[in-house]
Amino acid sequence: MTSAGRPILPGAVIGVLGSGQLGRMLALAAGRLGYRVHTYSPEGDSPTGHVADVEVVGDYDDLDALRRFADGVDAVTFEFENVPSASVAAIAERALVRPAGSVLHTTQHRGREKDFLARAGLPVAPYALVDSLDDLSAALTRLGRPAILKTASFGYDGKGQARIDQAEDALAAWDRLGRQPAVLEAFVDFERELSVVAARGVDGRVAHYGVIENAHARHILDVSVAPARIPPQVERDALAIARATLEALDVVGVLCVELFLTRDGRVLVNELAPRTHNSGHLTIDACATSQFEQQLRAVCGLPLGATDLVRPAAMANLLGDLWQDGEPRWADALARPGIRLHLYGKRQAKPGRKMGHLTALADTPDDAAALVREARAALTGSHVRA
Ligand code: AMP
Repeated sequence: MTSAGRPILPGAVIGVLGSGQLGRMLALAAGRLGYRVHTYSPEGDSPTGHVADVEVVGDYDDLDALRRFADGVDAVTFEFENVPSASVAAIAERALVRPAGSVLHTTQHRGREKDFLARAGLPVAPYALVDSLDDLSAALTRLGRPAILKTASFGYDGKGQARIDQAEDALAAWDRLGRQPAVLEAFVDFERELSVVAARGVDGRVAHYGVIENAHARHILDVSVAPARIPPQVERDALAIARATLEALDVVGVLCVELFLTRDGRVLVNELAPRTHNSGHLTIDACATSQFEQQLRAVCGLPLGATDLVRPAAMANLLGDLWQDGEPRWADALARPGIRLHLYGKRQAKPGRKMGHLTALADTPDDAAALVREARAALTGSHVRA
């Protein structure tokens, strides 16, 4: 076992729980710095497995397999945060785990996360914990409508969510979510969505990538733009909230704070992801140190890297839908100067599945956003709708 005080240096083995694109991009960054990467998840032939040194296939509740995995690595981090607490504890007996299990415990449950944020004095939309249909009715009376019911666990990209517009919709929403513990949130009439991706080192130092602006389509992140086109006061508020969140959670690693900017200029926390984040993918091409190298540095106890945005940038997700009429026209997107293509090596293109992304660099955020949308449209021979 490595002592918590000494940095984990190149040549060491980093264990990653989860094997999707976030692990893949971490493994690519780690490889460049001379680390080896072992990945653990229930799936083989995975995006991370394709570029990692070792791919272990096992369940997240197989404690023996997890202990064996931990014995073969110097530190463990996550690209998937819904690993059971008991599993994280079993790993922590054998290897350094960053961020700590307590961070995952808080952020993998919407109710605990909201309570944590509220207790820390961080701004969130009005919410209520809901364990029964009666709770839901009472919460709707208190919070008003519209409201959004979200499952407490395993929600992402709008999965496990139901909007309630009328009191009569409550039963259908409760049934649709499977009658499980949930959180009801007041609907936020937001002006735009923002995120702050930041890292905190073992020494407590926080480094952030500024404020990123995010547009969603069908509840899935569609386009991110940096720097966000927001007034300076909103930027200051968002960054102060992010810093306070990382400090209150005592994170070592990367954390993304997803935010709403309300129409009256307030910044509210939507949710936290204790890992690298889709909105931070543009840091690979646009920043001095990518979010993935930063995660590695934080986890290894190394100094955090510079986070300067070298050029304004925009990122567009490439979902499986783009494959509907055959292979996208890669050359047509790549012909545009300033466009970078990232594909995750997923063999099956399903609707809504994140297959890759494009990043555009330009002189202004507006130009970068326009360029990335145009390049993505070119993949299917279509045009961007004005
Ligand atoms: P989440 O999985 O909580 O990040 O939600 C996915 C998306 O649903 C968000 O990015 C928003 O676009 C939308 N959304 C979530 N919560 C709310 C809310 N309380 N009010 C309005 N829109 C929301």
